[in-house]
Amino acid sequence: MTLIAIAFAAAGFACADQLGRRARTRALKVAEDAVERRFNILEAVADGMYIVDNDLIVTHVNEEAERLLSSAADALVGLKLEKIVDPLGSELVPDIRLARKTGTIYEHTYLFPMADRSIEVRIKPSASETLVHLRDVTARAQAASKLEKSEQRLQLVTQNVDAVLWTADRDARFSAVTGHALTELGLESRDLIDEPCDRLLSRSYLDDAFAGKAAKGESVLGERWLRHHVEPLRDLRYGNVNGAVGISIDITELKRAEQTAWRSANHDRLTGLPNRLSLEHSLTELIRDAGTGKRRFALLFVDLDRFKAINDTLGHDVGDEVLRTVAARLAESVRDDDIVARPGGDEFIVLLPHVAGVAAIDIIAQRMIRRIREPMEIQGHELFVGASIGIATFPDHGRTARSLVSHADAAMYRAKRSGGNAHVHYERSMEAEASERLTLEAELRHAIDRNELRVHYQPIFDVTANVLSGCEALVRWEHPTRGLMAPDAFLPIAEETGFIVEIDRWVLAASCAMLMAVRADVPGFRVAVNVSPRDLREQDFADFVFDTLRRHDLTSDALTLEITEQVVLDPVALPTLQNLAAAGIRIAIDDFGVGYSSLSYLKRLPISGVKVDRSFIADVVSDARSRALVKSIVAMAEALSLEVTAEGIETEEQLEFVSSIACGSAQGYHFSKALALSGFMALPAFETARVVAI
Ligand code: C2E
Ligand code: MG
Ligand code: MG
Repeated sequence: MTLIAIAFAAAGFACADQLGRRARTRALKVAEDAVERRFNILEAVADGMYIVDNDLIVTHVNEEAERLLSSAADALVGLKLEKIVDPLGSELVPDIRLARKTGTIYEHTYLFPMADRSIEVRIKPSASETLVHLRDVTARAQAASKLEKSEQRLQLVTQNVDAVLWTADRDARFSAVTGHALTELGLESRDLIDEPCDRLLSRSYLDDAFAGKAAKGESVLGERWLRHHVEPLRDLRYGNVNGAVGISIDITELKRAEQTAWRSANHDRLTGLPNRLSLEHSLTELIRDAGTGKRRFALLFVDLDRFKAINDTLGHDVGDEVLRTVAARLAESVRDDDIVARPGGDEFIVLLPHVAGVAAIDIIAQRMIRRIREPMEIQGHELFVGASIGIATFPDHGRTARSLVSHADAAMYRAKRSGGNAHVHYERSMEAEASERLTLEAELRHAIDRNELRVHYQPIFDVTANVLSGCEALVRWEHPTRGLMAPDAFLPIAEETGFIVEIDRWVLAASCAMLMAVRADVPGFRVAVNVSPRDLREQDFADFVFDTLRRHDLTSDALTLEITEQVVLDPVALPTLQNLAAAGIRIAIDDFGVGYSSLSYLKRLPISGVKVDRSFIADVVSDARSRALVKSIVAMAEALSLEVTAEGIETEEQLEFVSSIACGSAQGYHFSKALALSGFMALPAFETARVVAI
């Protein structure tokens, strides 16, 4: 029994032993599986994990932790945590200890500024070990900081840029509104929320956005301009358009700058009138509109008479003021929808888009001339300007801007030639005239070289002594095809081109050569030579005169220079005149009485005589007022000890009258016309004189 029992017992023991081993093996296996599963899980997670036991010896390190700690698992497992150089190892020791002691999870984000890394650390203690969980949140942190920065910037933008940023929902009401521009617009964000968007911009922009399209445009809000950029606002998940987002920039300053730039590009700074550019634009539009509607319109080319003289003599300030005054007067003479432009200089162009006919244009042109002729009080001067107006009508006188302007210009030239203060409608013959003028200008340049200029001499009589006392030198042009031309036909061109300076010097030299011959027999004989205002502006003019006299052995009392009244006001000419007068050369004011000279001017200048304009003499017999005028001129001249010459004496009666009022000298057809040198030398007074050839 015992044996059996022992055997059983033994067997039982053996069995129990076997059973225990199996159980242990199974338990071990389970445990191993659990560990492996756990390790598999540890490996499977994307985050870094390592485990330390209670002695803080590393027992496991997963792959991501290897990367973060920059060491292989083999090198780390079995090491004490303090020994691991990486801060994610050694530096965590105090935290792990604390977590273990308190039994709580410890979480912290480590920042490694040098490496630009952010690691989230989570320490989870348990009874026998501690799990350290490392998550690389660098990318997230960077994104967050970027977001923060961009939000800050956005805030800066919304606060500082002159814009309104807004969103709207599908029923076109604002759902959010912000932006610095609100203040300027006198709006507040809270007043706009839930309000219809058309308080800020047109509904059409939103409709575009709701239809999935971006929209851009501008609108005016009171005094301010906004530029809108509107985009559809989409549901993030499904992409449906559930509203609109927009930025409305305040572009008021930009618009104002644009307007200023446009104004200065299109307007004349001096008068504020449209300039050439703007005129061309208006004219092109007018032609297009009138062309399609078969309408007529008129272009008036207005050129000021005597403006150049004022500008040259009284200075540019006065000239500018005259132009401004004329601009204002022209603008007052027309209706609001007429256009008054200043393309340049002393020229104005007026467009009358709704003109009824020639009679109506005439009335307007006359009104303009009347207004311009009214006296102007500028900087203490009482000034008178006139205007010549040339008129071209669309489509009769031209169908293009260029032809209309050039035809009106040609008509203006005709008006000017007729004596100014007149208006003339374009005629076909004028075109030829204008081109002829150009040809003449070119030919005139060669007139001296080709020896085509002539001087004619008109005798001047001493009325008291009844003798020939001198003559006036008057230029002529012996044109190869046109024949002998009077100065009126070419001197205006010479004045314009400046060629007058050469002509006058040539005439002076020729006159001196003549005088040298005549004086041999008639010692006191004098010659009067006309000088242009331009001559006196030449620095060396006085020297040229002295030199010429010297070369011809003449004393200065032999010469009289006839100046025009406009020179009287020219400060540049004054020193030259004084220089000439001081040397004993006589200075006489030609055509006296037609200009604006007054006694006060005469007193200031070194004048020795005046020549009474022939327009006064023409009327002295028939008109008592002309008689009174000439009488008073002579009396005044006498008081100032000036010599008086009456021009244009054609009749015995005129001569009698001027003699009766003690006018010293006289000149005119009654005595003789201007004569070519040979005819002049054949006058009885020079019977003994030698004939000179020039
Ligand atoms: P001006 O100096 O007043 O010359 C007088 C003009 O009146 C001359 O005309 C002369 O022929 C004209 N005339 C003289 N007596 C009579 C008369 O009894 N009845 C009429 N109806 N006319 C008379 P012209 O020669 O045609 O000269 C015109 C103007 O041209 C001159 O007027 C003068 O201002 C200018 N001129 C002539 N030669 C020169 C010159 O060499 N240089 C300059 N700068 N100007 C000149
Ligand atoms: Mg003269
Ligand atoms: Mg004269």
